[in-house]
Amino acid sequence: MFSLKEIVKEISKVSKLSEDEVNQKIGEKQIELSGLVSPEGAAYIVGKELGVNLLKEPAKRRLKVKNVIPGMRSVDIAGRIVNISDKRDFERGGKTGSVVNITLGDDTGVVRLSLWNGEIELLKELDVKEGDVVKVTGGYVKEDNRGNSEIRLGRMGKLEKSDTQIPEIKDIGGDFDTVNVKNIRDLREGEYSKVRASLVQVYRRNPFFEVCPTCESRLGKEEDVWKCKDHGNVEPKYNLVLSGVIDDGSGNIRVVFFRDLAEKVFGKDTEELKKVASGDQLNVYENLHLGEEFIIRGRVKKNQFTERMEFIANEIESVDPKGEAEKLLRRIRGIKD
Ligand SMILES: [Zn+2]
Repeated sequence: MFSLKEIVKEISKVSKLSEDEVNQKIGEKQIELSGLVSPEGAAYIVGKELGVNLLKEPAKRRLKVKNVIPGMRSVDIAGRIVNISDKRDFERGGKTGSVVNITLGDDTGVVRLSLWNGEIELLKELDVKEGDVVKVTGGYVKEDNRGNSEIRLGRMGKLEKSDTQIPEIKDIGGDFDTVNVKNIRDLREGEYSKVRASLVQVYRRNPFFEVCPTCESRLGKEEDVWKCKDHGNVEPKYNLVLSGVIDDGSGNIRVVFFRDLAEKVFGKDTEELKKVASGDQLNVYENLHLGEEFIIRGRVKKNQFTERMEFIANEIESVDPKGEAEKLLRRIRGIKD
């Protein structure tokens, strides 16, 4: 229901009469009806006579990208396609499938829309490409394993082209690389998160641990012989672990990198490091630069022994200031990668 003031405004807007003229017509209508109707009632009648539909639903407020959260159902959202990933094929439980990830953006940020299997055909059918505006209706939102929102169509969802006004790609909010980055201060136990932080300290201890070459489980030593509980005596394979502290200005947290992630931080693979370590294991830390900034995805866990929070990394990329600046410039100039 609208208030009288709102009705007058709406009639004035649609009929191009001034608000005074509308008020006058409402007064006349009341007199005409011998004062049997309220001013609101008379206003509705005037509106109807002037062809102003006052009974329409107020326009549904459109969902913005930054307000998309996991668990939402019947999601209607429009966005400009910022990026379409290559199709990725995978096998799960003997079945094969494919997925394409679409980055949708509006003035508040970007969010992922994933298309699975047959849904991927929609891109061709609708003839959509990067830069086009599309609309999802009846979708739902899942949380991916890093805690980010992912819109899916599911059985009820629809994808269509849309003429909704959305800023051009270069004006889309948010920095794509740092979308959903969390402050270390705000990390919570059990959460998958993404942080952008510098490695400010490393714990200089033996970075190698012995694993079974068959099952990769950690080995125990019995009388100088390495033993896997499933595979018996084995010649160990070495895996890497690197722990330290990351800091992003909001706070710091202990971080642990295993295997290939540790190799990335060291800038060498395990075999090379094993050579470097042949004299003294701690030699591996010689050329490690502290202060380098990374974007790290991982999970916050409580260390069983120290009871302190740790960030267990599962993805790391180096922040490349030059690359970032170039990317930003390209976006400002409206040139796409
Ligand atoms: Zn084993």
